[in-house]
Amino acid sequence: MQRKEDEPPAVTRRCPICGKSARLAELPFCSRRCAEIDLHRWLSEAYRVPGAPAPPEEGEGAQQKPRQK
Ligand SMILES: [Zn+2]
Repeated sequence: MQRKEDEPPAVTRRCPICGKSARLAELPFCSRRCAEIDLHRWLSEAYRVPGAPAPPEEGEGAQQKPRQK
């Protein structure tokens, strides 16, 4: 019987937050919680970085419509 080579196990990946083995369902994190932590870090850093492209503000003079996929 032939057996296809599956994707490498998640064990090869590590959660960038806590360093544990990542889960396929939550790649590249080990859990949803770590994913959220990373998201918050990313957002907070994005706001801290001076000169970073600011997100489009809604309200006065909003000429650009939000993209829709
Ligand atoms: Zn983790």
